[in-house]
Formats: sequence, C-alpha cells, structure tokens
Amino acid sequence: MPELPEVETVRIGLEKVTVGMQIIGGDVLYPRTIAHPQSPQVFIQGLQNATFLLWIRRGKYLLSKLSLATHDRPSWLGVHLRMTGQLLWLTQDIPVHKHTRVRLFFEDNRELRFVDQRTFGQMWWVAVGEDPEQIISGLQKLGPEPFSEEFSEEYFGESLRGRKRSIKSALLDQALVAGVGNIYADEALFMSGICPMTLCHQLQAEQVQRLRAAIVEVLSTSIGAGGTTFSDFRDIKGVNGNYGGMSWVYGRQGQPCRICGQHIERIKLVGRSTHFCPRCQPAMK
Ligand SMILES: [Zn+2]
Repeated sequence: MPELPEVETVRIGLEKVTVGMQIIGGDVLYPRTIAHPQSPQVFIQGLQNATFLLWIRRGKYLLSKLSLATHDRPSWLGVHLRMTGQLLWLTQDIPVHKHTRVRLFFEDNRELRFVDQRTFGQMWWVAVGEDPEQIISGLQKLGPEPFSEEFSEEYFGESLRGRKRSIKSALLDQALVAGVGNIYADEALFMSGICPMTLCHQLQAEQVQRLRAAIVEVLSTSIGAGGTTFSDFRDIKGVNGNYGGMSWVYGRQGQPCRICGQHIERIKLVGRSTHFCPRCQPAMK
C-alpha cells in the first residue's frame, strides 16, 4: 500500500508534468472509482477544459487545484491510491491495461491514466464553490502532517500519554499523524529502539521524542529515494522507488539485524505484519 513517501513521490511527479496542462476530455472505465459526483459523466464534464494549477498532498490524499477560464474560483480533483492505485503519465497509444479505471486526455496525445488492480482507489471532482473537506470526508479525520509544526514534541507526547494501545497501532492511526503506514511505522520503531508491542503509556518521554524524530527522518529518507520498492508502488513513469534495499526491518524477517546480527522477527499486530529486532527493540516490562 502506498504510504506518505510514495504518495509524495507521485505528487512531485504530477507537479512536474501536469501543471499548466489542460484536460480536453476523459473516459471512466470503472464507475465505482469515482467517489464524487455520482455520475461519471458529470465527473468528466466537470474536468473538461480545466487546467492543473498545483498538486498538494494531505496524508495519503492527492489534491489538484484546477482553474477554469469561465470561473475565477478553483475546482479540485482528489485522488486516493488506496492499495494498488497508480497514476501514470503516458501517451494515449499505449495499450489500455485491463485494470485501467479512469483516463484523462491532454493535447499532444498525452494522458493521465489511473490503473488500479484492487479497485479500492478513489477519485473526486469538487466543483467550484464546494469545499474539498466536505466532499472528501476522509480529509476531516486526518491528524497533523509529520513535517508540519503541528507535529511537535508536545503534541506527540500529549497524544500518547495514558493510552493503553500498542505504539504500533497508534502510529497506524491517521488521526494521530497523517500518512504513516505499516512500512515506516516498523522502520521508525526500529530506529528508536522501541518494541512495537509497547503500550503507549509505558513509553518514557525521551523514547517518545526519539520516535518522533525517527518518523520524520525515515519519511524524508524514503521521499529522497523516490519511495519504496515494496508492494506494487510505481511513480508516474512506472518506476519503482529505492527505499526497500535500505530497510532496517521491513520485509527482512529471518535475516540478520543490520546492527546486532539477531534474526529479524515478524509477527501479526493489529492485523498487520510487524517486523522488529528482539535485541535492539527489547520488550518493556
Ligand atoms: Zn538488532
């Protein structure tokens, strides 16, 4: 599943190729991908003649601000890739794969194609005068961005204080911090020497601060590497990221820890596979 660094990698790619480009048409091949409006025809009509102004990322949502010559206020295109969604920038003559869900057309035979094997991905068109947060309701539940000032030491410490759930489960909660998923939760817990099963209220203040710093560091490193090689992630040119080869624990079960040599373990925690080094991340009593 794409996490923050992968979605950010896609955003950077989209910003490079689509800003200033005008949508001249489109085709919805799988109507359920369109979360709003209800009618795929209205979705395409709304996007027709709109020009991409910029792309922002909020958690794992991608939002493009669009301008129309007929309005001075913007409309928006929202995308969530979910499990397997991919946005690809290509030419229209590239054969349409069976998992293609939505096609947006541009001049010079260009196309932005949404391909999604598992079909959980979603797209929204937010009309002029509508509020993206009202239409894309998942945006309302997101906690602060990990790179923002709001994700401060005080905020993180306060959010975990007195909580009896595991720290791994807390990190996956998008209302606590937006965009961190399974891969980077495991990596950040290793980097800060914290066992994933540790309950939030057992953590020392100093561990909480080390963890916060590790989250920011691992996400920045992965964005620099163009996202991860794990899962089906591809950037908009269909290229895999490079983070996977550098991972400390994720996907390395049974292999020696890069620090101490102990075998990396994998367990199920809150329904998700969880990787850790039992020596570097000792269970708390
Ligand atoms: Zn170790």
